[in-house]
Amino acid sequence: MQPKVTLYLDLDRTLFITDRVNELLDEACERLYGILPTKRRQDQPAYSTRVGDQHFYRFFDQLEQYGVARDRAVRELRQAFAGLDFLYPDARKLLAYLSLHQWPTVVLSLGDQDFQTFKYSLVPELQRLPIICTEALKGEYFRGHTETALIVDDRKIAGLPETCQGVLIDRTEHKLMHRQTDGYLVISDLTRVEELLRAYE
Ligand SMILES: [Mg+2]
Repeated sequence: MQPKVTLYLDLDRTLFITDRVNELLDEACERLYGILPTKRRQDQPAYSTRVGDQHFYRFFDQLEQYGVARDRAVRELRQAFAGLDFLYPDARKLLAYLSLHQWPTVVLSLGDQDFQTFKYSLVPELQRLPIICTEALKGEYFRGHTETALIVDDRKIAGLPETCQGVLIDRTEHKLMHRQTDGYLVISDLTRVEELLRAYE
């Protein structure tokens, strides 16, 4: 039987250990291209786009400005990071479950297509899932969405339609799962999503 809900998973800080890649980019940009972390950070605002209360970063645009071609940077950085693990352990467990049950799942990421796709490409476990990059706030992305969806993110998404259940992943939360007064679900571990999905079977 076809599941009645599509799962949307955020990338940065939901599945993907973003702080780890950011640290490694500092080191790799200096080693490969001679770009000092202080210089990159100083210039970064020019490559940062604000959307609502969020920013996204056009990292490869910045590298191009320093004379590092996008294709080369993608290739060399992927090589530099090959074999490193950027998945949260609970994300790995959830992805294994989703794969086993062939659950309809989309990685939905707010940000620059090239940078987000680069991060996604570092995680072999994500390669069977489609990725959608949006430059709009997710509340806007889902506006008018009539399909039943479960949307997991480390940020609360304002303005979700009734067909979409928002789930906040907060790994600092001590309760396994609870519902806030506004109907938003908060989980402390991504494997909780499995039981949420089972309710739709
Ligand atoms: Mg996120």
